[in-house]
Amino acid sequence: MTCYQQVTCRQCNSNHISSAGYNAHGEQRYRCREPDCPTKTFMLKYRYRACEPGIKKRVIDMAINGSGIRDTGRVLKIDKNTVINTLRNKAVSLVQVNPKIFELSASGELNVRLEDAGCEAELDEQWSYVGNKSNQRWLWHAVDHATNTVLAYMFGKCKDVVFQKLKALLEPFGIKRYYTDDWGAYERHIDADKHEIGKRNTQKIERKNLNFRTWIKRLVRKTICFLKLELMHDRVIGLLINKVEFGLDIYI
Ligand SMILES: [Zn+2]
Repeated sequence: MTCYQQVTCRQCNSNHISSAGYNAHGEQRYRCREPDCPTKTFMLKYRYRACEPGIKKRVIDMAINGSGIRDTGRVLKIDKNTVINTLRNKAVSLVQVNPKIFELSASGELNVRLEDAGCEAELDEQWSYVGNKSNQRWLWHAVDHATNTVLAYMFGKCKDVVFQKLKALLEPFGIKRYYTDDWGAYERHIDADKHEIGKRNTQKIERKNLNFRTWIKRLVRKTICFLKLELMHDRVIGLLINKVEFGLDIYI
């Protein structure tokens, strides 16, 4: 008796498939012949789960929803080093300035919009630690005062250095007024005539950003503090901001 098994591409569901030889264990490989399909070769059953389609997306989703490296490894039945490498390799596609704002800027729309808003930004900072409490990690982000859109963010060890780097990222926006709820680093690096301190102008943002900030705090507490890797701390929060605030596809 001869049995036939229909093979379809896992990415595009096409059945326009050809054989693509065997792997080192003698198992059949297939190739999708659809010209637009990103799949090169695939197998029906993977010896190692980390190679299966969709696993990397799940690693990222679990990280930005507060699962630790070991939890993720256990749930997805993959090695914890695969989890770390998947997150580490995402570095290339992360951005720190909202690219949608720059697109607007190139077409002149941003200038008009920021002019209407008076080129005003609200600044917010928070710190967490990696490994132990003496190893502080600062996250600073700036939000457009009128639209509550995150403009840019920055991570680092030293409060003042991080703030200066964020300020450099904000340079192209031509911000005329900064609203903050504290003194400290702001006072040292923003001209007094451009700086307004107080809760009055940060109330709206405080409320709207609460969700975002609570999410990050939860991430910091549950996922990151035991990671002992600054890189992972920055990576997981960066992924979250790129997805939630910048609206980018972080799975590419
Ligand atoms: Zn395909």
